[in-house]
Amino acid sequence: MICPNLQGCKFFNITLSGKSALQEYYKSNYCSASDKYKDCARWIVCQKLGKEHVPDDLFPNQKERAELILLEAQSKGKLT
Ligand code: SF4
Repeated sequence: MICPNLQGCKFFNITLSGKSALQEYYKSNYCSASDKYKDCARWIVCQKLGKEHVPDDLFPNQKERAELILLEAQSKGKLT
């Protein structure tokens, strides 16, 4: 199954300047790879906090950064 966020995801729909090859690599390894989207840092933040809390420059492989974002949200009472 491809990522359900495909249409609304900035990472998937906007080409980052100078990073198109890297972007294509992650698109094929997360966005359209069967169920791999569940490991995507952007997907994780979006599911837990909402799309508006996903930083534009968050890459799918940055799970540690996603965890920090969730911890910070938790410390501010935005996440239970
Ligand atoms: S970057 Fe992540 S959230 Fe966005 S479409 Fe790809 S897998 Fe889904």
